[in-house]
Amino acid sequence: MALKYEPVSKPQALIGWHSMFMGVALLASARSKDHRARNGACIVTTDHRIVGVGYNGLPRGCEDDDPIYWSDDDNDPFRSRHSYVVHAEVNAILNCVVLPLTNATIYATQFPCPRCAQSIIQAGIRKVVYLREKSHHAPANAASEKMFKASGVACESLERLDVEAFTFANDLTDFVAPAPGDGDV
Ligand SMILES: [Zn+2]
Repeated sequence: MALKYEPVSKPQALIGWHSMFMGVALLASARSKDHRARNGACIVTTDHRIVGVGYNGLPRGCEDDDPIYWSDDDNDPFRSRHSYVVHAEVNAILNCVVLPLTNATIYATQFPCPRCAQSIIQAGIRKVVYLREKSHHAPANAASEKMFKASGVACESLERLDVEAFTFANDLTDFVAPAPGDGDV
């Protein structure tokens, strides 16, 4: 007698790749102690391997409870957080387990600033997928975009790339819950 098998339902993943990678970037952002903005980034190879994860924070050895590092005086570099905080994208590159990052994609919770754009390009990353874009960062974002365009780095919004992943990421953002008064980085 021939064995009969019941047809099994097709196994399915709960989330797609874009959701997973932006999800990892968002989870990393939850580790950030930056009261102004929690950002995360996740670097992925063309064959879907995660090779680097980072969030915005102080360099090693700089104590989080020293208020100088978090001060907001942009006219005084010594008292400006911008002198101290390492952005998520750069931390993800510096934390990479393999180099070079030729043809990799970086998922970033925020549109990369010009400094991060420089590192992304120089590290060999070829594609950026970002979650949020702040309107008051428009001039800086235009500078990043100019460099991305010149160096052939594709830069796409997750919303335009994959609506389902965008919705998933927004739901996850509720968990990460930006602090009240969440501003720029
Ligand atoms: Zn940056």
